[in-house]
Amino acid sequence: MGELNWAGNYEYRAQRIARPGTIDELRDLVTSARSVRALGSRHSFNDLADDDELLVSTAGLPAGIRIDEEARTVAVGGGVRYGDLARELQEAGWALHNLASLPHISVAGAIATATHGSGDRNGNLATAVAGLRILTASGETVELRRGDEGFDGAVVSLGALGVVTEVTLDIRPTFDARQRLFGGVPWEAVTGRFDEITSAAYSVSLFTTWDEPALDLAWIKELDGVEATVGDDFFGAPALTEARHMIPAMDVRNTTQQLGVPGPWSERLAHFRFEFTPSNGAEIQSEYLVPRPRAVEAIEAVRALGPLIAPVLQVSEIRTAAADALWMSSAYETDVVGLHFTWLRDQEGVEAVLPALEQALLPLGARPHWGKLYLDRDGVVPTLYPRLGDFRALTERFDPERRFRNAFLTRLLG
Ligand SMILES: Cc1cc2nc3c(=O)[nH]c(=O)nc-3n(C[C@H](O)[C@H](O)[C@H](O)COP(=O)(O)OP(=O)(O)OC[C@H]3O[C@@H](n4cnc5c(N)ncnc54)[C@H](O)[C@@H]3O)c2cc1C
Repeated sequence: MGELNWAGNYEYRAQRIARPGTIDELRDLVTSARSVRALGSRHSFNDLADDDELLVSTAGLPAGIRIDEEARTVAVGGGVRYGDLARELQEAGWALHNLASLPHISVAGAIATATHGSGDRNGNLATAVAGLRILTASGETVELRRGDEGFDGAVVSLGALGVVTEVTLDIRPTFDARQRLFGGVPWEAVTGRFDEITSAAYSVSLFTTWDEPALDLAWIKELDGVEATVGDDFFGAPALTEARHMIPAMDVRNTTQQLGVPGPWSERLAHFRFEFTPSNGAEIQSEYLVPRPRAVEAIEAVRALGPLIAPVLQVSEIRTAAADALWMSSAYETDVVGLHFTWLRDQEGVEAVLPALEQALLPLGARPHWGKLYLDRDGVVPTLYPRLGDFRALTERFDPERRFRNAFLTRLLG
């Protein structure tokens, strides 16, 4: 068997995975390949990161973390994991605006797919990007800053422009946060008071298997000392007095500290602890980012499919992200509600339920997460990105010989 992604549901078809330790080695590899892609921390669930010839892993490239206090930015090697970056920032008194659920993912890999956390006013992780350094197929280094022509198309790049060797991210002074869980949110509250629920704290996530009488869990993250605390009742759901994993059977020690204990952002904004390193995922994920005005309709549509999806579902998460201007972002020009599915690692079973789910969600304008499993049998996804043509033109400019265009991108861009 060849090399697998983190979840073990996808085997890379590339003939070779190279692990350069310097930018010069990386340049030699990229310029001598007919076809090549960057490989981050392997947390995607589909063939987006793959190539039929060469994958260059970014894991061994220099971390190069440099904080610019005056500009309030940090420059970081693209292969650095958020957890490592968060530790360094916290030690120096700085913070990022948000994190994804897992801190083990690479910075460049996460922004390439518009990876997000939760929070009505929080843009996805790509919105923190202030600058990019990209090694292109010709071996040239291109620097782009926010405001430059093409920048908004280059951040969520799907790996199509070249290898992102350095990312500059906005930072802010460090802050403390605390998280609490509430059990049993009534469905009527979710569908009737959705905006109040998701705006109740800095970050709100709802966990459900869709078939319970009341939605299983609300997981809120509040900024310590800034926001009024949500009381001990969250729209009819009582605060839990014991810590919990979002999947009841899983070990709670894998999750970040709960029960309202304040702590640095770097140890509260992700759901999972950085110290916990799972050997493999034993799961598959899908996620659909629904334009906010259609959110309740989408939630009701998925509830109606509850019995169909239950046999392959571990848990779902409902969360939000703010609109942005990045051409290939799932939140391009619209606030979104993410309907996320952590499935069993049953590829066939999951692929059997996705068509019904996509028939319910894609017509509402839902954009599938680029790094998670989706099918799009009817070819709807390209129509959901008004700037797709501009993005295609940008990829042609950066990569005229299409050496970074793999099967996934050919399906999307032609
Ligand atoms: C357990 C788990 C939890 C997750 N939680 C979340 C979550 O909370 N929110 C969310 O939105 N997503 C989440 N994801 C999805 C994940 O964030 C994305 O799939 C992300 O792209 C993974 O980053 P990676 O470095 O592993 O990328 P890979 O899978 O290695 O690559 C993904 C894409 O990025 C490109 N890429 C990687 N590095 C570079 C580079 N240096 N230059 C150019 N292109 C590059 C690759 O070519 C490919 O196109 C989760 C995934 C897992 C497994």
